[in-house]
Amino acid sequence: TYVVTENCVACKYTDCVEVCPVDCFYEGENFLVIHPDECIDCGVCEPECPADAIRPDTEPDMEKWVEFNRKYSELWPVIITKKDQLPEAEERDGETGKMEKYFS
Ligand code: SF4
Repeated sequence: TYVVTENCVACKYTDCVEVCPVDCFYEGENFLVIHPDECIDCGVCEPECPADAIRPDTEPDMEKWVEFNRKYSELWPVIITKKDQLPEAEERDGETGKMEKYFS
């Protein structure tokens, strides 16, 4: 599966949702997640993310992100249409500790 990781927080560009062939992105207030059981591993979303937040779970230390994506994809509504990124997306792109500071 592919997963959304920390740099999505407080940016939430939604270019990824438009290209997903199985509509498996779910939307929280300032973060997106991928449902790991619905993702078919096609990889087309990864290069679409301007914040470079989407990763394959084959990279090291991805287990916690898989669990995080799974948890919230079961709580949040599906998103299939691109919308504007969050207002401070550009300034916060690449900031460290975003999950702690901004996730809600
Ligand atoms: Fe959707 Fe493919 Fe990205 Fe999985 S890898 S979330 S199926 S676009």
